[in-house]
Amino acid sequence: MATLNPNFADRTVVVTGGSSGIGRAVALAFGDAGATVVVADVREEPKDPDAAAPTHEAIADAGGTAEYVETDVSDPQDVETVVAAAREFGGVDVMVNNAGIYTKRRFREVTPEEFDDLWRVNARGTFFGTQIAANDMIERGEPGVVVNTSSDTQGRAAWDHGHYAATKGAVRMVTRSAALELARHGVRVNAVAPGPVATEIREGWAEEAEAMGPGPDAETPGLPLRAGAPDELAGAYLFLASDEASYVTGETVWVDGGGHID
Ligand code: NAD
Repeated sequence: MATLNPNFADRTVVVTGGSSGIGRAVALAFGDAGATVVVADVREEPKDPDAAAPTHEAIADAGGTAEYVETDVSDPQDVETVVAAAREFGGVDVMVNNAGIYTKRRFREVTPEEFDDLWRVNARGTFFGTQIAANDMIERGEPGVVVNTSSDTQGRAAWDHGHYAATKGAVRMVTRSAALELARHGVRVNAVAPGPVATEIREGWAEEAEAMGPGPDAETPGLPLRAGAPDELAGAYLFLASDEASYVTGETVWVDGGGHID
């Protein structure tokens, strides 16, 4: 019987937004699994209050190989630069398009500027992150895997999330469209949809998220399980990036405490 114990010893993994939160947990997990990790983020210092060192340093301290490349994913030129940096380690085998920003705003109050900010990072960043990494894989003749971070809001409406959910609905369709066109090149593209995860993505969000859980009764059901911790997301990324998922593409794996099932 096969066991899930992915080994990424000969793989190079780029994690955008890998300095903090979910991306940091994913980058550390790939590092633990032997991958060379390129952390691509606008900031090197983690936002997480309990993180002692930048992600790449933590991986190196644990005996792994990692580097940080300052990257704004909304600028395709920056993404080209980070993919070129990965070539120094043999080239990107796994591209994790995870960088994202989030604000909470009543639908009637979202401004065009705020909409565009979220769109540029979450949707445009994922689109060109997928395209640029895939083109590099195909040009090198080394087809790999893309894993995008969407959200539980990718397919359901939630108050104050209209602008954010629109970007994550886009991530869902970038994932599916790219999977369709890239399959013949051997490149798989999937996504993970986190539910509420206690991170510093927005001031006060970690505390708000931590308070989420089952409601008091059937009329106010709330979240079936509870809020998640970043570490609880990482396994899904490793699975989707591994050979164990060789027949999975265009899929979104929900890691959301059951939030999408009602
Ligand atoms: P986080 O703020 O802890 O981490 C996000 C990281 O992305 C930060 O290190 C930040 O510097 C980086 N980043 C922001 N803009 C960037 C840019 N333009 N270029 C490169 N890096 C950039 O947040 P998180 O909660 O870990 O979020 C990670 C992903 O998970 C996001 O895509 C977010 O939308 C998604 N998500 C989070 C939750 C949640 O509850 N935390 C739920 C669903 C989806």
